[in-house]
Amino acid sequence: MNTKDIIEITRSNNISPNKKLGQNFLCNSTIVNRITASGGVTKNDDILEIGPGLGDLTESLLKKANSVTAVEIDSGLFRILNEKFKDINNLILIHKDFLKGRIEGNFTKVISNLPYYCSSEILFQLALKYQINDIFVMLQKEMAERIKASPGTKNYGALSVTLGLYYDPEILFKIDKQSFYPQPDVASSFIHLKKKNNTGLDKDETELFHLIVKSAFWGRRKTLRKSLLESPHSDLSREKVINVLIENNMDKDIRGENLTIDDFIKITQMYSGYDAKKH
Ligand code: SAM
Repeated sequence: MNTKDIIEITRSNNISPNKKLGQNFLCNSTIVNRITASGGVTKNDDILEIGPGLGDLTESLLKKANSVTAVEIDSGLFRILNEKFKDINNLILIHKDFLKGRIEGNFTKVISNLPYYCSSEILFQLALKYQINDIFVMLQKEMAERIKASPGTKNYGALSVTLGLYYDPEILFKIDKQSFYPQPDVASSFIHLKKKNNTGLDKDETELFHLIVKSAFWGRRKTLRKSLLESPHSDLSREKVINVLIENNMDKDIRGENLTIDDFIKITQMYSGYDAKKH
């Protein structure tokens, strides 16, 4: 589908791309095919696609996969998709806000060009509610760089650590704005998140991990000790914070942005059973 096709389809259906819903459609078939190829889609795959839009990527995925389940929030687009794919029987089309509830199915992969206004929320929900081994998504370039960032660099933050607990990220390729209609304000990157086998944390510890990470990055310029003690996200006791830092041989001036994901896991395990409450 090129820009002309997109303009024609939307006009003839009396709709226009909704910026608020992140509707920047791919208008470059080379990129669409590259996404499907990068996902290594085969007939063993049952794909979950979030935000099929006008269905170009969906069509490419359907040719290679066993099945595609595509979840679209927009009723106008849903109508177009229903008509376009009315004779296709390996597609399940769902008209729904992906962020509400859970989509049933045993999915092998997620492959999507995500709506940028809620892509971090979608990734968190995929991490927490689903057990999908391979996630291939298009994101804002800056966000992809934050996910992939290493400790001590300017992009490293709560997003890198929170998603890093569950996935090993890899940036596969960049896409310029001209490959979308309408053009987004920023460039994009296509990334692969490979699920880790085991986070090493049980359910309560996982909750604590997220609290600690949120707290550690709450005061970006503050020391870890100060952030953990003063964060509005937790009420970890002063004595326990200090004990954990001492037991870990941590420099008293160390900051959250210098800790690896394994450091955060270790700190969490030491706190395990300690009282930390979300406000
Ligand atoms: N897959 C199409 C493509 O690549 O051209 C469209 C991608 S566009 C960046 C994002 C799509 O996500 C839009 O179709 C938009 O309506 C849909 N969307 C936005 N928010 C959503 C949500 N919460 N749940 C499901 N779909 C959503």
